Amino acid sequence: MTSKLDAILQNIEAMARRAKRNTEDITLIAVSKTKSIQDIIPLLNQGHRVFGENKIQEAQDKWPLLRQDYTAIELHLIGPLQSNKVRQAIQTFDVIETVDRPKIARAIARISQEEQKICPCYIQINVGCEDQKAGIDPNQADAFIKLCRDELKLPIVGLMCIPPADQDPKEYFLLLKEIADRNQLAKLSMGMSGDYALAIECGATSVRIGTALFGER
Ligand SMILES: *Cc1c(COP(=O)(O)O)cnc(C)c1O
Repeated sequence: MTSKLDAILQNIEAMARRAKRNTEDITLIAVSKTKSIQDIIPLLNQGHRVFGENKIQEAQDKWPLLRQDYTAIELHLIGPLQSNKVRQAIQTFDVIETVDRPKIARAIARISQEEQKICPCYIQINVGCEDQKAGIDPNQADAFIKLCRDELKLPIVGLMCIPPADQDPKEYFLLLKEIADRNQLAKLSMGMSGDYALAIECGATSVRIGTALFGER
């Protein structure tokens, strides 16, 4: 029987081929938010190692236990980060995808030094300029990337976005790619259960998939 994980990895491979891209250049981030340790273990047993969580407390409750039994886990923070939680985030996660304002960027820079831990970071772009969404506005992206990289020396590896719901995400994916290209950033975290085919076509280097892997939350 093919597992959901295998099915999605096969989809990613087919989509990569169609887009004339290498499968190895696209990472599946299994979004395990709200899912229990028991839900996560089967994926770990199948060899999957890259996961995403959106809440720091929840990640702290689950992942230190899982790390006792499984090595080489790469845990991505994909949810909003408050400045009083930065230390816990750095201790709990391996990659931070939601750097979205100067205050947070400065806190990450300072606390990474204190903790002697380097977490590769993504800058979250509010591609639809939505009031209710986190992320830096597209027209402030270049200056913010410059601040993070040049002044704060943060290890910025790429950009992340969550496009507006109920709209064709294509123009937003392409906008993220355009901002990344002109800033020489290699990685693009975009695409979720409903739109990862399109995201891969537009250049995603990681897709964040929850529902299609674990079922409805
Ligand atoms: C929940 C979540 C996902 C996964 O969404 P699905 O539609 O369940 O695949 C991806 N990215 C972020 C930032 C999320 O919060």
